Amino acid sequence: MCLFCRIVKGEIPSRPVYRDDRLYAFHDINPQAPLHVLVVPHKHIATLNDLTEEDERLVGAMVRRAAAIAREHGYDRRGFRTVFNCNAEAGQSVYHLHLHLLAGRRLGWPPG
Ligand code: 5GP
Ligand code: ZN
Repeated sequence: MCLFCRIVKGEIPSRPVYRDDRLYAFHDINPQAPLHVLVVPHKHIATLNDLTEEDERLVGAMVRRAAAIAREHGYDRRGFRTVFNCNAEAGQSVYHLHLHLLAGRRLGWPPG
């Protein structure tokens, strides 16, 4: 079982932010900003390349949840960034779909 499947199941501890029957959000172990949360579906999907039409509602829920978490932490007006890294050249290191939510500092553009 992959790392994030094990985190979703609670086999590996994590710092929870939000959970429902489809999604789990938790703090990144190596935060790149004052707020760095990962929003993960319970369903194992390796990368963005593996999404199907039936996943559209799930991905919409991930994006809306990231925005809700940003708002709950007071970053809706200041700004925040959401990122899906896909495959090696983009820096994906865990092959279970996850949406990064970063906030709390000025974020450079273009990204490194
Ligand atoms: P990626 O590089 O695949 O886009 O993002 C994977 C993220 O997962 C990284 O930001 C990394 O710090 C985080 N991560 C890796 N292992 C763990 C872990 O065991 N626990 C938590 N909470 N985050 C992890
Ligand atoms: Zn998985």
